[in-house]
Amino acid sequence: MAQLPPPPPAIKNPEIKYTQIFINNEWVNSVSGKTFPTINPTNRKKICDVQEGDKADIDKAVAAAKIAFEFGSPWQQMDASKRCALLHKFADLVERDKIYLASLETLDNGKPFKDAYSGDITRVVGTFRYFAGWTDKIQGRTIPIDGNFFCFTRHEPVGVCGQIIPWNFPLALFALKIAPALACGNTVVIKPAEQTPLTVLYAAQLFKEAGFPPGVVNVVPGFGPTAGGAISSHPDINKTSFTGSTEVGQAIMVAAAKSNLKRVTLELGGKSPLVVWKDANLDDVVEWAERAVFYNCGQMCTAGSRTYVHEDIYEQFVKKAKARAQAKVIGDPFDPKSEYGPQVSEEQFNKILELIQDGVKDGAVLECGGQRYGTEGYYIQPTVFSNVTEDMKIGREEIFGPVQSIMKFKDMEEIIARANDTKYGLAAAIFTEDIDTALTFTSRVKAGTVWVNCYNKTSISSPFGGFKMSGMGREFGEYGLQAYTEIKNVVMKTPVKL
Ligand code: NAP
Ligand code: MG
Repeated sequence: MAQLPPPPPAIKNPEIKYTQIFINNEWVNSVSGKTFPTINPTNRKKICDVQEGDKADIDKAVAAAKIAFEFGSPWQQMDASKRCALLHKFADLVERDKIYLASLETLDNGKPFKDAYSGDITRVVGTFRYFAGWTDKIQGRTIPIDGNFFCFTRHEPVGVCGQIIPWNFPLALFALKIAPALACGNTVVIKPAEQTPLTVLYAAQLFKEAGFPPGVVNVVPGFGPTAGGAISSHPDINKTSFTGSTEVGQAIMVAAAKSNLKRVTLELGGKSPLVVWKDANLDDVVEWAERAVFYNCGQMCTAGSRTYVHEDIYEQFVKKAKARAQAKVIGDPFDPKSEYGPQVSEEQFNKILELIQDGVKDGAVLECGGQRYGTEGYYIQPTVFSNVTEDMKIGREEIFGPVQSIMKFKDMEEIIARANDTKYGLAAAIFTEDIDTALTFTSRVKAGTVWVNCYNKTSISSPFGGFKMSGMGREFGEYGLQAYTEIKNVVMKTPVKL
């Protein structure tokens, strides 16, 4: 795997500049007057209080976004090339403030600064530049129909988009929701996760600085059932896009159906199989499998959380995987040596430790880890289980934590059946030198992304999303853009056959 150059030094105590609600390019307090604390996961101390938006604030934000979208508004009238320039300008500002934003992400989320800098914030810039390039290439078709008629399609923006994001990649997922919506000419109301609102709030100010008209982007921090629920059931929101748990995704679809049939895109959980065939390069694959499940402390929807290893190399693999996990450097995410920080919250921390206990009770072999690390923050030791089977809780449920579950298999029929024996279908991978083995697996596994001899290689230009209960629709790339337009078919009578 290619090594990235080291990032510049972090800002260890980034100043907190924005903690209010951002509506119509103005900072305001919540209507209720309520606030909530955001917590540093390395020491469980409060970083600051943030204004807590709920239904009344979402109503205000939607009203602003609706006016900003109306015919004749500056945004609606703006040339596509100008929209392109604005998206690039925002990306320029994120690049200018990259060290600060990465530092703030590390403070609020707990991820290593080097990952926040080289991973998350780099992705934010790339996402905006990629979708900026689409603004003046969103075009319909002319279609030959019978008779003296001229038929063409227009790809129009959907309207007000209500977006709800989780805490595992706060600013990167914010960018992934906002950039395609804006590229198509929509307006946005977005709710960051309660655990990690700070980078998203700072980014809101950058939209104003870049010159986006008031009401185009509105950010309302708050809680899921209140602010999030108000988005998914709002009659004036035309589209909602959500990333998070499958349960909440289902609730959002119900709310969308009951309110106004708003369009829904869902990117949900996974229990993705990573298959190690007997001919795989063992040292190489141990490294890939380790990153597949431990990157971002396992807080990844694509986590390769079911590691299937061919019986011929199983014992060797388990030994090496255990040694690799034990060698991981845990610690302060601002320390450049740390590969690994705390889990995001007490809720996640407790849930993961409980699932680890379930693994032990269900008879999996705990090879290493399994305990809290340190006494202050939400750190969990990198944990490796062997002898896992799908009837165990850790073999079926999304753990969303630093837990590798290693399972043994024999042949292709068995591995296809077991890989597909899950309600999820987000990602899958196979490591093999044999092209037929690779192609058989890629065609038969039910997953939105399949990797061969690599893992977690996502790109902003290629589609991402899930089969089955891992979601609906696709994000990233041209496929992702389609979710943010309505197609209008126009038919005109003509004097002659064209
Ligand atoms: P979650 O509840 O699905 O939260 C994701 C977002 O949805 C947050 O902004 C949340 O608000 C909001 N939300 C919660 N309930 C809502 C509702 N009824 N209506 C509208 N919005 C609502 O996820 P979580 O509780 O943070 O984590 C639980 C599990 O979800 C994890 O253990 C993991 O398995 C999965 N997860 C998946 C992803 C992913 O990338 N696919 C990301 C995060 C979590 P709050 O801020 O108030 O929670
Ligand atoms: Mg929740």
